[in-house]
Amino acid sequence: MSLLQQQQQQQQQYSSFQQASEHRLVLYCEQHPDPSDDLLQCQSTQLIPTLEHFLTSHPHWHQHLAIANIMSTSSPTTKRQTSPSDVSPLSKSVPFYHHSHPEPSLVTRADICILLMNSDKQQKWLKDAHRLCANNNNHSTNGNPPTPKHVILVDPSKPLLPPSPPLLPVDEYKVTTIQHVDQIPSTLHSILSSLHVGDKLVVEAAPSHPQPLIANQVIQEYQGAKKQRLFLFDYDGTLTPIVSRPEMALPTRSLLDYLTALCRDPLNTVWIVSGRDQKFLHDCFGHLQTLGLSAEHGSFMKMPGESQWIDMLKDAVLPWKPEALDIFSTFTSGLPGTEIEQKKSSITWHYRNAHDLDAAVRKSHECHQALLGLPGVDILVGKMNLEVRSVLVNKGNVVKRIRQQQGGDNAVDFVMCAGDDQTDEDMFRALFHDTKTHTILVGPPTKLTLARFCLDTSQQVVDLLGQLVSSPHHKQSSSL
Ligand SMILES: [Mg+2]
Repeated sequence: MSLLQQQQQQQQQYSSFQQASEHRLVLYCEQHPDPSDDLLQCQSTQLIPTLEHFLTSHPHWHQHLAIANIMSTSSPTTKRQTSPSDVSPLSKSVPFYHHSHPEPSLVTRADICILLMNSDKQQKWLKDAHRLCANNNNHSTNGNPPTPKHVILVDPSKPLLPPSPPLLPVDEYKVTTIQHVDQIPSTLHSILSSLHVGDKLVVEAAPSHPQPLIANQVIQEYQGAKKQRLFLFDYDGTLTPIVSRPEMALPTRSLLDYLTALCRDPLNTVWIVSGRDQKFLHDCFGHLQTLGLSAEHGSFMKMPGESQWIDMLKDAVLPWKPEALDIFSTFTSGLPGTEIEQKKSSITWHYRNAHDLDAAVRKSHECHQALLGLPGVDILVGKMNLEVRSVLVNKGNVVKRIRQQQGGDNAVDFVMCAGDDQTDEDMFRALFHDTKTHTILVGPPTKLTLARFCLDTSQQVVDLLGQLVSSPHHKQSSSL
């Protein structure tokens, strides 16, 4: 492709990007660092890999981002000037534009501006950008703020300080100062998360790495809640460790005591939302009348204070079940130790106890492929199991139903939801846009999830419940 063709293609991409209102532009300005500043030079080379890392962890943003690189000195490399598609793999999935100066339309369109340059040059750049935008008639009449809404300053010399004195009205943009480009992914994540909430941009939930939960913070918010509180817990792997024989995973005395205490507080509504069947949940928790129970991922629900189960699939037709059972039976017969579990709305193949676990793991991929043709089902890859489940039920729908019954999002000012498995991601998705929820993955912070926070083990979840019920506020309100 000739240079002219490349430029034309880039211009077309940029025009279509400008017309697509759902995009959010991340603009960054990388001024060629002062050769005497080794640290800035080093950080400059890490900027693209860092943005790549962010997009790897947040794949959903591929569709909503464009990157503009403004080289505002006279020393960019020839390669960067002439061949943007060669600059970075980012350009294959994310539009990538190059400019020699902060063009007004580009700057105005940006939600985020990352400035990697010395602090005195940062100030000058912001001032120039503001002047260019203010002079641009198109943007002074359409109601958009004339500057990027967020500015990230990468400034190793002045950490954690806003530019002083501010050159632009403070309410026109927010400044985040970081010391190193390594901090860009987490900074971008928090800014982008707030953008779609405030701007009502319709964005699907995007998985990312969870933050370790800080128990004291949760306890404070629990104590500060004035309206209703809602607790939603998966069971296996969340309130009890995963064991090889599921029937052995019984609730401990302390867990039952904590749940009892939580349910006793009139502000609290507590639910176990499990894949287990009604009998198991009833045997374990049936004596806690005010505990809500959801069995088989929402196929059956027992409301708090009630004793009867409601069959949520009473009139549903599930024509895929015989075929799914055939497929699982084929794989089970060749792999001793594996077993099939049938439920109302799902069939699960467990291979945790396979005599030849390596072979079972390999075969599970084949089995997964064979299931893909079934209509009206979700296929869930669990911990040493494969599950085929009706699309009519999932834990996310359970959460939505419970929240509706509680009077919607505004009726509740504290929500905790914990889970460890793929099926729990549906709960996290249902709560994703409500920023006051504490969604907790029971697992490592390296896992991609829709939960905001993580705890390493189910014991830590149980301990957290113990801390909540022994907090002073809890004792006060539950004794009312
Ligand atoms: Mg689980």
